[in-house]
Formats: sequence, C-alpha cells, structure tokens
Amino acid sequence: MSKKTMRDIMVAGKKVLVRVDFNVPIKEGKILDDTRMRRALPTIKYLQEQGAKVILMTHLGRPKGQVVPEMSVRQLVPHLSELLGQEVLFAADCGGPESQKVAAELQAGQVAILENVRFYPGEEKNDLDFAKELAGLGEVYVNDAFGTAHRAHSSTEGISRFLPAVSGFLMEKEITALSEALDNPAQPFVVILGGAKVSDKISVIENLLKKAAYLLIGGAMANTFLKAQGYAMGASKVEEDQLETAQKLLKKAEASGVTMLLPQDVVVAHELSAEAEGKVCDLGEIPENGMALDIGDKTVEAFSQIIAKAKTIVWNGPLGVYEYPQFARGTNKIAQAAASSQGKTIVGGGDVVAAVEKSGLADSIYHISTGGGASLEFLEGKVLPGVAALLDK
Ligand code: ADP
Ligand code: MG
Repeated sequence: MSKKTMRDIMVAGKKVLVRVDFNVPIKEGKILDDTRMRRALPTIKYLQEQGAKVILMTHLGRPKGQVVPEMSVRQLVPHLSELLGQEVLFAADCGGPESQKVAAELQAGQVAILENVRFYPGEEKNDLDFAKELAGLGEVYVNDAFGTAHRAHSSTEGISRFLPAVSGFLMEKEITALSEALDNPAQPFVVILGGAKVSDKISVIENLLKKAAYLLIGGAMANTFLKAQGYAMGASKVEEDQLETAQKLLKKAEASGVTMLLPQDVVVAHELSAEAEGKVCDLGEIPENGMALDIGDKTVEAFSQIIAKAKTIVWNGPLGVYEYPQFARGTNKIAQAAASSQGKTIVGGGDVVAAVEKSGLADSIYHISTGGGASLEFLEGKVLPGVAALLDK
C-alpha cells in the first residue's frame, strides 16, 4: 500500500488542514501526558518550514456531538504554543465564522487549531456537509491521526472528497511499517499474541495465519486455547464459549503449516491484587483455585529462541497481567527478546504498547503503533477508511 505523503504535494503558501490526534488525557485543564502532541511536531514543523499555513483539527474525549467545555481544545493551546515556540491561534468553531476568519488571516508558517471536531454531530456520522465546511478552510488535507484512521468521520474520511489528501509523517510511518510486515514480511515472520480474549482477536489470528511462520500465544487468550486442548485451567480466565473456535484455529494453524506455540508453564496466583504472590506451575499442575496470570520461564525461553531468529515480528496483546509488576515479567522478558532480535518488531495494541513503554524498551523497538484499535484492524487485514481516503502514489 503506497499513499502520497506531504512530500508528494505542493504545500508552500497553502492553507493545509491537518487532522492530528491530540486526544490527550486531561484533568481539570491539566494535560497529564502530552505524548500525542509531541508526536505530531515533525509534521507541523515540516509544514511550517515549507511555508504552509497550518490549520490543525483534532478530537478530545467523547463529547458525542455536543459542546462540553471540559473537552475544549482551547485547553491545549498554551502547551502547543510552548512546544512549537510560537503562539498558536485558536478558532472556537470548525468551519464557522471564527475559523473562516482565522484561516483567511493566517500567514505562512503560522499555526492555528480548531475547536473539538466532535462537538459537531456531523463529525462521527461522516456528514458530508460538515466535511465540506471543514474542507472550505484549506487547500490541502493532511491526515496524521492514525489512531482514528479506522473510523470514517468527516475529519478523517469525508474531507478527502473535497481536498487532495496525503499522509503526515506519523501516518506515513504507521502505514509503511504495518504494510511492510503484512504485505511482504521477511521470513521467518513471528506473531506474538496475548491479551484478554480470543473473541477480540479471531480475525487477527485468521489473517496472520496466512502469513506467519510462528504464532506464539500468551495472556488470558492462551488459557482458552489450553483449555481447548484439555488442560485444567483452575480459576483462570477462560472464554468457555470460545473453546470450539480455539480448537478450529489450532487445526487451521496446523493445516497452514504455522507453528503455534502455547505456554508450557504459567505463573499462578490465588488472587489478583498487589499483594498476590505468583508461583510457576507446569501445565497439568494448576490448582483448582489458581489463576494463570503470566507465562512462566520455560515458555519465555521457548518464545525467546524463536523471536531471536525472526526477521519480522508483530506483537499484539500483553502476555500477562502486566498492570501488576509480579505478573509483568513474561511481557517484559518478551519485550527484551524482541528488542534484541535481529528482526524488525512492530508492536500494536492499546495495552501491549503501554506494557512495552512501561518496560523501558520502547526505544529499541522498530515500530510502536500509536493506534490501538486502528492497528488491530490493520492486522485483521481491513482497509482503514482514513488510509484508503489518501491519494495513491
Ligand atoms: P491490547 O490492548 O494490547 O490489544 P487486550 O486489550 O486484548 O490487549 O488485553 C489486555 C488485557 O489482558 C490487560 O488488561 C491484561 O491484564 C489482560 N491479561 C493478560 N494476560 C492475562 C491473564 N493471564 N489473565 C487475565 N488477564 C490477562
Ligand atoms: Mg486493550
């Protein structure tokens, strides 16, 4: 998949509308984590350097088509100005008189930001009238919000019908890294899957079974597969209604020649709490009231050996209850294995990204996807509307 980027289009002197994802956690007006804002800076700075007039738009929270003052983008303006080292202008509407005025007066290299696009009911409905109003503010559209690319909204999809649409740097990197792994993965291609539920990830498994050489499974998802194989899982989290699906997937893997590895040992505790103590058990030894909350050392070793030889690694879902340090070991060890592998590792998914960032190894990983839901849909082989909307190269 090859899409046009900002470099493939003239932006100098033009009003460029940029969809960013500034959906940052905010409490009483204070930004708790500005990562998402900082990630968009290369795109904004590039456009400034090219002499474009930059108009940013984002959503913030879930106002559901209504004006919710606590979710006003105005709150982001001082910090954004600080990050850019210049004053950012704010328009209190999206396509209305105020933003029209700001857009008309904007100078080359200046940056403005619009009010929360989700204050408008048209946004999430992909209403084309609303999209057209947004488009009326600019001459070129840049999408740098991978995190919302799986949604066809006015500011992510509809707008592309009225303006030439290209990717920003963040979006470009996501598309390149994810399509590189999925379209033509260097082999051996190893997929690591964990997380809460088999049912959330059936499509991911089915899509990746067509491409991967190995499928390494951990997390609560593994419990369902292990139970489907006949192991007693004690009080572990198991999706009883997915046992048959799990069996089918195991057969499918075998038929496709994919080596599917499940845990050989697990870390078991009797409760899930900060004080809970984990004990490593082999399969078949899990006590009736025990819960498997992480993968054990033998499993880590077996997975790590395969990861070491991989050329491409895609990882979705943590391998244990990483929120508690005593059950984060497996996930951290696998992050280490991925970081030191010769292969290119792509990590995608809300929780697994949080886990890898917590492990301190994020900098040694080839690509950490910024979009939880979007990366999951990409791994399912779906075409994301926000990506499809961009001009082909
Ligand atoms: P992602 O967001 O990376 O796609 P998921 O949302 O599917 O991942 O799953 C993340 C959740 O799975 C975490 O909250 C984690 O605590 C939970 N989890 C992982 N392993 C287990 C386990 N063995 N038992 C219960 N919960 C688990
Ligand atoms: Mg999650």
